[in-house]
Amino acid sequence: MALTDILIKGGFLITMDPHNRVIREGDVHVVDGRIAEVGEALRVRDPEHTVDARRHLVMPGFVNSHSHLQQYFRGVYELMGDFFETNLPLEGYRRPEQMEALGLASCAEFLHGGCTTSMVVYTYPDEYAKAVSEAGNRCHLAADIEHVDLERLRDGVYEYLPEKRDAAVRRAKDLYHDWHGGARDRITTLMCPKAPDMAMPDVYLECKEFAEEHGLRVTTHLSQSAREFRQVQRLFGKTPPQHLYDLGVMDAKLSGAHLTYGTAKDFQLIKETGMAILHCHSVESPLVDWLDAGIPVGLGTDDYYHDMCDLIRKQRSGVMTRAVKVGGYLGMINESRRTARPSFYEMLWLATMGGARALGMDAEIGSLEPGKKADIITFDLMNPYLTPTRDPVTSVFLYGAPADIDNVICDGAFLKRDGELTTIDAEEALLKAQATCDGIIDSFFQEHPEQRRMWESKATR
Ligand SMILES: [Zn+2]
Repeated sequence: MALTDILIKGGFLITMDPHNRVIREGDVHVVDGRIAEVGEALRVRDPEHTVDARRHLVMPGFVNSHSHLQQYFRGVYELMGDFFETNLPLEGYRRPEQMEALGLASCAEFLHGGCTTSMVVYTYPDEYAKAVSEAGNRCHLAADIEHVDLERLRDGVYEYLPEKRDAAVRRAKDLYHDWHGGARDRITTLMCPKAPDMAMPDVYLECKEFAEEHGLRVTTHLSQSAREFRQVQRLFGKTPPQHLYDLGVMDAKLSGAHLTYGTAKDFQLIKETGMAILHCHSVESPLVDWLDAGIPVGLGTDDYYHDMCDLIRKQRSGVMTRAVKVGGYLGMINESRRTARPSFYEMLWLATMGGARALGMDAEIGSLEPGKKADIITFDLMNPYLTPTRDPVTSVFLYGAPADIDNVICDGAFLKRDGELTTIDAEEALLKAQATCDGIIDSFFQEHPEQRRMWESKATR
């Protein structure tokens, strides 16, 4: 990919710099993959590319802090909804070699929606990394490690399998050796023990040791489900965060997704250690308390589709609903102030700089500042549902959609230009992914006719 000299001119700039500077009519100059200058009426002689950003919001690319590839069984998962009867057996029909095609469609989705950086936790990360190196986006990639016998878990029995553990640990370490720092440093890897009920303490300790040895970070699902909470209580007599704290793996290099359940003590430990929370669902969370306590927080789409505007919208309304109902976890409640928080600007900060900080990437990405890598997106405001507006930020995140993002620059290269993806033939990638998914789902239905019947009754009604 050729490096470029790009001038983005006359946009409404949201810089996310330490002063939270907003420039109503500003320019960004990009040279050789990095931001050279940000300001008003920059004097740049003969830039190679000029983006006319008048009536556009210009901001750092989104940092999607936690996601998986689950979107490929869209139209089945959401209708059936039973992990053990549908999702788990269906996933068994995937083959590693199909995953590059699905990976490319996944990268297309991220880029279409302005996610220049995504954390992806996935079973076949090797094929996914190939897709990322082709697509040009930035990816923080992990192979999750769990060693529970999922068949037995169906009956509520936790049995931990040593062979499964060894294979998963090997896959995670191979991913580091094969891909870390790949495709011009856009691909970075991290370790991911799946969750405290799915991976035993030895896995967490081995991941931490490997991560320290190679300068990596560790991520995990944490306090995600009632099942996890009960199992960790049963095994260790503690909450999941207290379990990780006592194990010595909770520190500033750890991030935990969800924290659906948490006690005041859990959040104190998280605050004390500098661990980051990756906030994923539109559940009613104590987000404002986390922010006021200085806990690093990133936002992740996690689910079947990866639209950061939608995520911001839903999570903000979840937090607001909660704020009215309950008191805070950290004793920092101020009801009158709460009703206006988190603001859209705060949510936007979490979706960019906050995520970069939570993933330990804030020295390089997350804001529009000279010296940083040039990961920049522009929103076209010239749509009847966005203009007129007095405040483009509020409007974009209340009414905007991925299709409004017309330019996506990552590492100084255009990956979406004037609304079209440049590195991925979107039609070809999506049709290939469709054919792959049809093949997987057809074979599953063939061998599980009762599932086909159930799906047909739900899909056609
Ligand atoms: Zn997850």
